[in-house]
Amino acid sequence: SLQVNKLTIIEAYSVLEADGIVSARQGSGYFVNSLSLQSTKLESTFSPAQNVTILEPGKSSFYDMYTPLVQAKTQLGIINLGYGYPHPPKDINLIARRALRQENPDIFFSHDMPQGQLTLCKQIAQMLVQQGLEVFPENLIITNGSQQGLSLAINYYVKPGDWVIVEAPTYYGAISILENLGARIIGIPMTAEGINLELLEQYLHSHRPKLIYTISTFHNPTGLTTTQAHRQELLALAEKYECPILEDNAYEGLAFQPVPAPIKALDKNDLVIYLSTFSKTLMPGLRVGYMVVTGKHYQAIIERKLLHDLHTSSISQAIVSEYLASGHYRRHLSRLRTENLQSRNTMLQALEREFPDEARWTVPTGGLFLWVQLPDNIPIQTIRNEAFAQNVYLACGSAFFPDKQGYPAMRLTFCLPQEEIEQGISIVGKLLKKYISR
Ligand code: PMP
Repeated sequence: SLQVNKLTIIEAYSVLEADGIVSARQGSGYFVNSLSLQSTKLESTFSPAQNVTILEPGKSSFYDMYTPLVQAKTQLGIINLGYGYPHPPKDINLIARRALRQENPDIFFSHDMPQGQLTLCKQIAQMLVQQGLEVFPENLIITNGSQQGLSLAINYYVKPGDWVIVEAPTYYGAISILENLGARIIGIPMTAEGINLELLEQYLHSHRPKLIYTISTFHNPTGLTTTQAHRQELLALAEKYECPILEDNAYEGLAFQPVPAPIKALDKNDLVIYLSTFSKTLMPGLRVGYMVVTGKHYQAIIERKLLHDLHTSSISQAIVSEYLASGHYRRHLSRLRTENLQSRNTMLQALEREFPDEARWTVPTGGLFLWVQLPDNIPIQTIRNEAFAQNVYLACGSAFFPDKQGYPAMRLTFCLPQEEIEQGISIVGKLLKKYISR
């Protein structure tokens, strides 16, 4: 009889699952999804914005954006489709207790080095090697979340009045740092393959920006992943115009299928600063992120980190380190991937069923978000308010563009219980149909 390795079968099922063709139900088996692949076709023609958006320095509205999203998360009865965070890790209490009981508690009773604990740097370096990024522990800096990494890198490269290129749309927390700094922001439209390279080159040439900010994998807010070829071209352009890249890879751990190696892995000239976080895979409350910085920039960034907060919490670092050492992290990631993939498929099915034909959405192969593009004349703020009156919280597209104009789009997180996804999407779908048929 034919001998097939069990691992091959498991892998084959995960590929089918990642493509949304089957889903696993615990205790029952694999089931073929009824979902048509229509949405996959949509992604290849997908372009969330046509025009370049430019923002002159202004005051940031990050506080106004961040606080209601986080508050809504803790309010019972609210379906928060706007804010994505991971399911809590199992055994974290046990791990935390074990981390605190360590043989050498001295590390908690005195200050630590600004770059972070060497053990954790070594563990992260090993993890990154598996993702195709070969780094030494001496290139790592443990930050207070990746938000601090963003702030340190942006403040290192950019001065008030400088031009900076971001993808449009992009993470509003980065836009806000740039705004507060008084930078001038150029938002280059995203395509299904990554940032629009022709427009990028045009603006690199005409505006000589000081930094390109990119979220290369499971981009926030669209969920798109920059292709391998696009990564190479993006780096080649950055090299040609000597413009550093800030690569924010906050969502990379949440992949349903293999992703291209980070842009930093191709960087031979210390032109790329890479950052990521344990906020999306473990717990945002730990506030542990990390940067990979090479060459002369490493020492300069550490000195800045020291001025900001001396070092990242030793207790948080020890908990993450213990979680990584115990093998729990690997198991936790694989559980997250299965759960998130099921949730993504539930959301895709709900969108097919409930949303009007005019809506278009991306089909991410990991991360926490997808992006829905709506017809131009849709009153998105009104829909948001009416959804909120029915306890459904939405993040509108405009928040993710430098000029904050009324883009007819929204970011949805699929990292929610099945009932919440179905109920939330049904409520929003009805509102959209009401306004589209007017
Ligand atoms: N980068 C991106 C792209 C994000 O989406 C976020 C959080 N939403 C961050 C950075 C900051 O996350 P943290 O500071 O919790 O690591």
